[in-house]
Amino acid sequence: MKIAVLPGDGIGTEIVAEAVKVLNVLGLPLEMETALVGGAAYEAHGHPLPESTLKLAKEADAVLFGAVGDWKYDTLDRPLRPEQAILGLRKNLGLFANFRPAICYEQLVGASSLKPELIAGLDILIIRELTGDIYFGQPRGRRIATDGHFPGAEEAYDTMRYSKPEIERIAHVAFQAARKRSKRVTSVDKANVLETFQLWKDVVTEVGQQYPDVALDHMYVDNAAMQLVKAPKRFDVVVTGNMFGDILSDEASMLTGSIGMLPSASLNAANQGLYEPSHGSAPDIAGKGIANPLATILSAAMMLRFSLNQEEAAQRIEAAVKAVLAQGLRTADIYSEGTTRVSTREMGDAVVKAL
Ligand code: NAD
Repeated sequence: MKIAVLPGDGIGTEIVAEAVKVLNVLGLPLEMETALVGGAAYEAHGHPLPESTLKLAKEADAVLFGAVGDWKYDTLDRPLRPEQAILGLRKNLGLFANFRPAICYEQLVGASSLKPELIAGLDILIIRELTGDIYFGQPRGRRIATDGHFPGAEEAYDTMRYSKPEIERIAHVAFQAARKRSKRVTSVDKANVLETFQLWKDVVTEVGQQYPDVALDHMYVDNAAMQLVKAPKRFDVVVTGNMFGDILSDEASMLTGSIGMLPSASLNAANQGLYEPSHGSAPDIAGKGIANPLATILSAAMMLRFSLNQEEAAQRIEAAVKAVLAQGLRTADIYSEGTTRVSTREMGDAVVKAL
């Protein structure tokens, strides 16, 4: 089983090192090869997604990804910015389905900013379409100001678009995922204002007719944002477009206490996948050894489950994470009084020990 390991920038290198440590003690025939991506690749090769890195990712059964980005690259031309690497990987590998579970672990109920009764037992799955919508729309650009330069541009535009087949395939993913859970799908759109999302709503409804055993409801994105903090447990599987999914999944992640806890999987039609924590490169805490590695370790568990067909190993990792939380071990982001504060490495070591 070949895994391309792409740690990236900032805390990416610190958290991926812990996930690799965990994978190494499972006793599975895993072949891991590491490559540069993001700002680190730009520094070394002049491009955030060098050909050699893309080739490694394409040839692997799965990609374990850390995070990319740093404020210092904000002035680079857009195609050279670290974040373009992740967009390039999604596009080149055809990773159209992003799974973001938001699970509230019993021991972390107190770390949420919401009342315990609202989030205890929370287990929702946000499925975000990943290769369409306004992030990949054409045309995009800025209208040049009268002085002829972009810095003085007076107007900018990005085009939102979806095609019927793009919506159909993500809808199927959502209904099939719901069949393995509580058989409920909420499709989030903005059909009251946007044509793109009227199409979305129509197509999801049509696909839904093939799944009579799954209950489908539709919600506008502004209401969904509100309901997520008002009554999050009303949701089970949420399916939405790229931009709304980007925002709602970060919102959902905070319900559970910390973005440092949440894994994600991005899959293509062949179940080849890219696995990464839901958070970014956290330049504010990079190099301090305090980042929470659990989102990345749980992403490795999702990788074993979805791309490598190793359900038992996935469950062992998830049980080990619960065990270290039960022992009271906490990185700074989930620390509360009465628990034991540990570093990134100590958290990784504890998961290894629990395994
Ligand atoms: P971020 O997710 O990196 O950080 C947001 C906040 O959460 C910060 O305060 C950070 O310290 C904290 N945080 C994040 N992960 C944590 C962890 N594992 N443990 C403890 N605390 C954690 O988002 P941002 O600050 O908006 O962006 C930073 C950089 O990351 C930017 O360059 C952005 O473009 C990039 N980014 C990359 C990805 C990706 O690689 N897929 C995703 C989002 C953002």
